[in-house]
Amino acid sequence: MVRTGVPEVLKGVSAAVLQEYAVQCIREFNASPTFAAALGVSVAHVSHCTETALRGPEADKLSSERRLGLIYTHDCRHIGCTDTGCVLCSHSQQRRCNRSFAAKYLSGDSLRATCGAPIRISLVDLETNVPVSLESAGLPPNAYIRLAIVDTKRLESSMTAQTRLSPALLKACLLLRNNAGGPLLAERSGTCDAEGFVRVALSSRAGAAEWSAETPGSLGREGVSTALPELSVTGSSEALLLSQRATFKLAAWIALEGRCEDGSLGEQDSPRTEESHSPGRLPAIAPALSDAFVVATQRVRSASKKDIPHASDP
Ligand SMILES: [Zn+2]
Ligand SMILES: [Zn+2]
Repeated sequence: MVRTGVPEVLKGVSAAVLQEYAVQCIREFNASPTFAAALGVSVAHVSHCTETALRGPEADKLSSERRLGLIYTHDCRHIGCTDTGCVLCSHSQQRRCNRSFAAKYLSGDSLRATCGAPIRISLVDLETNVPVSLESAGLPPNAYIRLAIVDTKRLESSMTAQTRLSPALLKACLLLRNNAGGPLLAERSGTCDAEGFVRVALSSRAGAAEWSAETPGSLGREGVSTALPELSVTGSSEALLLSQRATFKLAAWIALEGRCEDGSLGEQDSPRTEESHSPGRLPAIAPALSDAFVVATQRVRSASKKDIPHASDP
């Protein structure tokens, strides 16, 4: 790949070392915000194009075979490091979160990271974790994200090491209603649908302008990544699953508008095919599954202890 002549002084250096160094320089240069700004795209977009180009002529073939998926992340507000043995951080009450979801929420509390940061959901290439655009993912304009609570234990018992998480598998483990018959997963603005799913819009048509926040007007080209709406769980895991050790997980998957209004997940896990770019067909996109968490009733608020106690705790 190094086509320019190697300078005399470097002739003794092995080709592999030179190659690795050159590739590293390309990555560093292309990761510069100035370069991305000059091109009018995001740094993530340049990085994605760089990786594709570096993979060479096979890249086109590879990109059609790449595995896409939804993932949860958060921009941690805590300033410590993640090293559990770190002496400097051992007494810090602001240690960085090692997961995006807290281990415990109270019924009605916002589902946020322990540090208080909102949780984001992104559509990524699972190999690089770089967000991909709707266009390059082959998603039709009527696609959106569906969110629902699942029973961790039931899901785990139906999965083996070889099982790939699919919407069909999630379907058997959904928990849509609380014990009072209301939606178990509630969005603050109250826009859960009749079946109890919370929706997150993917396309600009559905008013999701924030998807392209980095470069306004380039929706479909930029990677998909956005903060989840303000969500809360309206029932305790113990009351619903009749076990103190029972936990919930928040599942997210891609669904199509105007399909499966009976609440079934239908063909949404259909494998990627030639027709996947035509409206109504979905490419295979792995669902997101959160860390497991317990939801307790508000009555235990004063009795609950934080992982790291704070002087201001009651
Ligand atoms: Zn955090
Ligand atoms: Zn540290």
